[in-house]
Amino acid sequence: MLPKPDALQTLHDRFADFRTRIETAARACGRSSAEITLVAITKTHPTETLKAALALGMQDLGENRVQEAEEKISELGRDAARWHLVGHLQTNKARRAVSLFDVVHSLDSSALAERLDRMCAEENRQSLDVLVQVDLGGEAAKSGIEAAQLPNLLAALKECPHLRLTGLMTLPPYFENPDCSRPFFKTLRELRDELQVQGHFASAKGELSMGMSHDFEVAIEEGATMIRVGTALFGERG
Ligand SMILES: *Cc1c(COP(=O)(O)O)cnc(C)c1O
Repeated sequence: MLPKPDALQTLHDRFADFRTRIETAARACGRSSAEITLVAITKTHPTETLKAALALGMQDLGENRVQEAEEKISELGRDAARWHLVGHLQTNKARRAVSLFDVVHSLDSSALAERLDRMCAEENRQSLDVLVQVDLGGEAAKSGIEAAQLPNLLAALKECPHLRLTGLMTLPPYFENPDCSRPFFKTLRELRDELQVQGHFASAKGELSMGMSHDFEVAIEEGATMIRVGTALFGERG
């Protein structure tokens, strides 16, 4: 069942409005919006909302918990969207993550990389796209690997033939003023550029997954290729 027509209309309007904001932000810094993937973050929202998002043409949906995603994906179908995991992944959920998701944005340890790689082999999955989540805020509570630990993780990834490293992700601390996120985004871009030169990425470009509802415009200015947006599309989470 789709949401009531007025709810669908609201989402339609927000989506249209949001597309315009992406266009405007991209154009303002001489970029094309075609190089920016909108990952619609649907965590806490019911399956009906995901259906509406798909009906409106959103193709990339993101969830932050394996359990919650599993319920929704089993209802909507594995092929209904390109499914992104954006939340911390525990190693004991790696097998389920491998069967559910197309992209894991939150790779943050060698142990998790090794585990995901082994699960891909066991589940006959040829390859899984992964982004390394870099913790640039130095906040112990947040997930992500510190930049100083990146070389170890990159070395571990070389031994993981099923994992395709496609880019980097970061989640800065929350600031009221979105411009305060800028140094984090800039640092991630510089790291990406370094890794790109060193040939660490599976694709030429090296994705930058950064920017959320309140700071995606700044992220686009700083080179984001994937923005992860929930609230601006679906409203406040309950
Ligand atoms: C919830 C979440 C988002 C989306 O946040 P909004 O502020 O609702 O746009 C993006 N990234 C991650 C990792 C999240 O957990």
